[in-house]
Amino acid sequence: MGSKGLLIVISGPSGTGKGTICKALLNRNDFWLSISATTRTPRKGEQHGREYYFLDKDEFERRISSKDFLEYAKVYENYYGTPKSEVLEKLEKGKDVILEIDIQGGLEVKKAYDEAILIFIIPPSIDELTNRIINRGTETEESLRIRLNSAKSEIKCSKKYNYVVVNDTVENAVNKIESIIISEKCKIDKVKEDIDNEFLNN
Ligand code: ADP
Ligand code: 5GP
Repeated sequence: MGSKGLLIVISGPSGTGKGTICKALLNRNDFWLSISATTRTPRKGEQHGREYYFLDKDEFERRISSKDFLEYAKVYENYYGTPKSEVLEKLEKGKDVILEIDIQGGLEVKKAYDEAILIFIIPPSIDELTNRIINRGTETEESLRIRLNSAKSEIKCSKKYNYVVVNDTVENAVNKIESIIISEKCKIDKVKEDIDNEFLNN
């Protein structure tokens, strides 16, 4: 039975473990992680075309005008966007696609592509979130403060998502996300066309 891939959106506050979880998911599954475009400067070790497509503001805005993005948003003063054609191509080919994007972006994706599955990752507590961001060592005191402030209003938006997964351990979180994906693939809406073709139309 062959059908379109699933579009899976993973969001949650900065430092909650989205990147870590996505990496583990990709190690264990044949998913495709969409590479976003951004105008933010690369962090140490990040490469153009691997973590992000790093674009300047003019180029990003040109691509907005050409409608090249499935969604885009301004996050912490920088643009971030999901390249549309790459994602739609993979879905058509039956690949499951993961988008690791912010909440505004996730809700935009749902508007544009109703079958998208929105999964919200939360930390076990705000204290644990603070420790994770500090231990990651990528933020200044000011950007840590901004991220923690945003975290509380972001967590409110979890209610607009389809699923919530607590990232207590990476192993638990990945197991839960895999279970969600398996259940989604068994839903009647996903398989009824295949059932008709295979068993009922001949
Ligand atoms: P995000 O992509 O959501 O901003 P990261 O994946 O960069 O978050 O994770 C933030 C920090 O927390 C990293 O240093 C990462 O190693 C650590 N981390 C992620 N998941 C866990 C977990 N389940 N337990 C402990 N530390 C974690
Ligand atoms: P970071 O700068 O830490 O890599 O990412 C900052 C935030 O931007 C994260 O919440 C991340 O999920 C989000 N983000 C990354 N790519 C995209 C994208 O293509 N679209 C949107 N809307 N958000 C994104």
